Amino acid sequence: MKILDGRWFAKQYHKWIKEEVETLYPKHGRRPGLGVILVGDNPASKAYISTKEKVAKKCGFEAFDQFLPATSTFEEVKEAIEKFNKNEKVDGILLQLPVPKGLDSNALISAINFKKDADGLHPINQGLLQRGDAKVKSCTPLGALKLIDLAYSEAEIGSELAREIPEKDLSGKLAAVIGRSILVGKPVASMLLERNATVIQAHSRTENVKDLCKSADIIIAAVGIPHLVKADWVKDGAIVIDVGINRIEDGSLTGDVDYESVASKCAAITPVPRGVGPMTVAMLMKNTLECYKGSFL
Ligand code: NAD
Repeated sequence: MKILDGRWFAKQYHKWIKEEVETLYPKHGRRPGLGVILVGDNPASKAYISTKEKVAKKCGFEAFDQFLPATSTFEEVKEAIEKFNKNEKVDGILLQLPVPKGLDSNALISAINFKKDADGLHPINQGLLQRGDAKVKSCTPLGALKLIDLAYSEAEIGSELAREIPEKDLSGKLAAVIGRSILVGKPVASMLLERNATVIQAHSRTENVKDLCKSADIIIAAVGIPHLVKADWVKDGAIVIDVGINRIEDGSLTGDVDYESVASKCAAITPVPRGVGPMTVAMLMKNTLECYKGSFL
């Protein structure tokens, strides 16, 4: 059984991105710029932003930030977005979600120039994803797909990888996605379809989710219910990608998959933490690099 170590895999991406940045920087005369906007002082969001800025610097990027008070109006947040839209040094913009109650996050995401949409959540980029033409793809689903590629590859987990793992053609594979959010479930299902997988999309109104999962070669859980996916949901030799991040009573983080019982049955599984989470951040950097390269075309 392979443990899909997202922390190690993300570090490989940081290294590859940095190498590419160092070859492009002399040619373009500036580094890729990531602009982050945080509204309010939610401790978890602050921690995410700090990690993203640190990783951006590790990748050889410039990081810009705007911190706004929780009391900010829609117009004030939109103005911060416009500032980054106009700033030629900013290639990728990230509006940290969730924004405080009362602010329309969809309208704010739509205010981001879609060519600078590092999170891949702008409606134009989501539409392009449906057509199979997206240059930037939502970070968490993209990270999940990269972990599936890792699961099917011969790559030795923990060792230095020289280059990105080729995309696996998922023809003939049955994938069960649990969850249908705009952030994870829907885009991950589109990406799996794009790779030729046959996709079952289960959600809160689906009956017998367990039975649907039992025949799947790949399970992606993106629900937000601790340990929902049990060993008897999983076919022997399946690949299990656990997107869920849940804080439980003892204060620790756990996923949507009952890791202890499922791990012994499957061919590959992501841990929580250190699975999909670090890959989400790495994909944010990959998208920012794509936006940077796009700005010189
Ligand atoms: P969400 O609340 O927007 O969506 C949850 C989905 O689960 C819904 O589509 C709902 O229909 C479905 N659902 C609820 N109960 C169900 C049930 N009993 N059976 C089947 N489906 C059910 O959440 P989200 O934003 O998609 O996030 C899902 C989880 O992933 C959360 O734990 C979140 O913290 C985590 N997450 C992790 C990352 C990461 O980087 N690892 C990124 C985003 C979200």
